[in-house]
Amino acid sequence: MNGVPSPRASGEQITVGVLALQGDFEAHGAVLKRLGAEVREVRVPADLDRLDGLVIPGGESTTITLGIEREQLGDPLRAFHAAGKPIFGTCAGLIMLDRDHLGIIDVRAERNAFGRQVRSFEAPLELGLEGGPVEAIFIRAPWIAEHGPSVEILAEVEGHAVAAREGSVLVVAFHPELGDDDRVHALFLQSVSDARLTAA
Ligand code: GLN
Repeated sequence: MNGVPSPRASGEQITVGVLALQGDFEAHGAVLKRLGAEVREVRVPADLDRLDGLVIPGGESTTITLGIEREQLGDPLRAFHAAGKPIFGTCAGLIMLDRDHLGIIDVRAERNAFGRQVRSFEAPLELGLEGGPVEAIFIRAPWIAEHGPSVEILAEVEGHAVAAREGSVLVVAFHPELGDDDRVHALFLQSVSDARLTAA
């Protein structure tokens, strides 16, 4: 809960959407609310209206892909990104944003890269946040197998990239919504706040 100033501290109300087709969206909503953001669940394109940023949660990437196709959310999500609105993808959300899915971040995610069931684990991850490493929870996690030159790798596990940023897009292979360390969401909310100021 420390390290990054709360966006509320600057007196602005930030509204963040959480893609709620499947997966861990409620836990993300709880963290974002703790940090002072207004949260809206996103299921159809109109839900993206007037949001300042969006979280794509972990879950099952095939199911989320089918949901995005069913609701015709692909183009609206790419337009949201093109408008400069920050997007935060975690675990399956990282997969959704990659070259082979929404094409919003220039990485190729390798699904279940640490192994299917056995490789769920925790690892301290140095993300450069005040307060020291984040105890990151990996559940059938992907890693970033390839990335383009404009992608900044923020952390690795066993030599594999598990957190990255490209412009307004932040992705992590782990589950920052589990546990009580809100610093990664606070980092995202700071980028949402900054993007709003830039747009204003
Ligand atoms: N293994 C899942 C998938 O590929 C992602 C796991 C997760 O989001 N925890 O869809």
